[in-house]
Amino acid sequence: MAQAKSNKVADKVVATEKQSSASDSYTNFKPYEASKNEEYMNPRQLEHFQNILLEWKRELMEKVDETVHHMQDDSGNIPDPNDRASQESDFTMELRTRDRERRLIKKIESSIKHLDDDEYGFCGNCGEEIGIRRLEARPTADLCIDCKTLDEIREKHISH
Ligand SMILES: [Zn+2]
Repeated sequence: MAQAKSNKVADKVVATEKQSSASDSYTNFKPYEASKNEEYMNPRQLEHFQNILLEWKRELMEKVDETVHHMQDDSGNIPDPNDRASQESDFTMELRTRDRERRLIKKIESSIKHLDDDEYGFCGNCGEEIGIRRLEARPTADLCIDCKTLDEIREKHISH
């Protein structure tokens, strides 16, 4: 925990900007350095990913909170109907973003649950190791790259 906090402030700012919208990736952490022959998902790795997930969730929840306050402050104060309309479409956009963030928070919560159940880091389909680097790129990943690829191909076939 102390390691992550000791990062330079500048690094933190850049990372926060990169994931300003609700995306599946979170970059505000130091990549894990595995030692030789280290066991996959040993306690140190689990702690690493738990920190990432908890911090990511905390940031998202802060953003959701900010929007709620922002909307409470601004609404009901605009006499011009045109302004009101444009403000409302801003709100709609923002609500959509918050909605995505809430869904992402749910995903993060289910990943945290997987950590507690010792299922985190293993493919939910074939049981293979997902891999540290892939998990760092997508901390909520619950499929290995092979199964994910197959999944996406299948989805494409269904939606076209
Ligand atoms: Zn798999």
